[in-house]
Order: sequence, then C-alpha cells, then structure tokens
Amino acid sequence: MAAYEPSFSQEVFGNVDFGEEIKMCMQCGVCAGSCPLRDHMDYPPRQIFSLIRAGKREEVLSSNAIMLCTSCYTCVVKCPRNIPVMDVMHGLAHYALKQGYVPRKDTANFGREFWNQVYKLGRIDEKDLPRRVFFADGLVNGIKSTLNFMDVGIKLFLHGRMKLLPEKKIKGIQSLRKMIDKAEKMGKGGAAA
Ligand code: SF4
Ligand code: SF4
Repeated sequence: MAAYEPSFSQEVFGNVDFGEEIKMCMQCGVCAGSCPLRDHMDYPPRQIFSLIRAGKREEVLSSNAIMLCTSCYTCVVKCPRNIPVMDVMHGLAHYALKQGYVPRKDTANFGREFWNQVYKLGRIDEKDLPRRVFFADGLVNGIKSTLNFMDVGIKLFLHGRMKLLPEKKIKGIQSLRKMIDKAEKMGKGGAAA
C-alpha cells in the first residue's frame, strides 16, 4: 500500500466537488469539535483535510467519516473560513464510490437506515434508527451496542430529542419524497426536469 501519494491533493482539487475549498482550511478544528458524529468518525473533517494535504489517499478514500456525514450543516455554519465542509465531505464520498471504495458494512447499514427513515417520515426517529442499526448483526451485538450508547440515549431523552412514542411523518412528506426521488435520479445521471 502506498503510504504517501504527493499528487493526491491535486487529484482532490481537480476531481472532487468543492475539493479546492480545502486550500482555505487553517486547521483550527472548529468543524471537528462541533460535528455531532465526531466520536463515530475514524477521522473528523479537520483531520481528513490534513490527510489530503499529507497525500494519504488510502486513509481518506476508505475513511468511514466521509460516508457518515449526515448533512447537519453545523460545520458549515461554524467554519471561520466559510469552507463548505459538508459539501467537501459529500464530494469525497462520491469520489470514493466512483473509485470503487465500498463503505464498511456498519457505515453502509447506518446510511441505508438513515435514508429509509428520512424517506418514510421526513425526519429521524432517534430511538428506531439505532435499534435497526444495532440489531442488524444479531441480538447479542444489538444488546452490546445498546449498552455502549446508553449514555447518549439518556441525554437525547432528557433533551427531548428521543421520544418514547414512534415519530410521526412530517407535513408535506409527499413533496419531500418527490424531491428525494428527483435528487436520486439526478445522482444516477438522469436529466433534471
Ligand atoms: S473549521 Fe474550517 S478552517 Fe477550521 S479546520 Fe474545519 S474546515 Fe478548516
Ligand atoms: S455536516 Fe457532516 S461533517 Fe459537518 S458537522 Fe454535520 S455531520 Fe459533521
């Protein structure tokens, strides 16, 4: 495995959507500090950008972080250099897929369940999503993961983010689904109407 590919940053600048924006990054770490998924990412956004500069192609393109980004926009709002961090992360994910990198099974499961819930409800059910992801690999793994994340669940519950009853669909779910369908078609190379 090539540990260092000096041309990788040029590859990113030239081929990844919003890739050139990384040039403005001053490595302050605000994006990483504010990302709600940082504890689940192998490399948070700041480190991904640093690895690109360091020519670590394999680490970046096989990273779970670029696949985990949920488009919450927190990093975009907070970056002092106005770098569209989220767009860069998505750009890297698309590029990695094009290059034949397959998301890890747990990351792929999470992405699929996240997508299914947004399509079904228009929002995330913070109780149902982890249940589906944790128990995808069987009862024992499900119980272990649930115990590992118990403290997060309690915090979500205390802050009113996790409800005991199932979440309901948002108003206008049909319009949202139409938008998602259209975006999916465009992503597969279909023509926008
Ligand atoms: S917040 Fe912006 S400038 Fe700071 S490390 Fe993240 S991308 Fe770079
Ligand atoms: S948009 Fe993605 S990278 Fe940025 S804070 Fe949210 S999850 Fe993290």
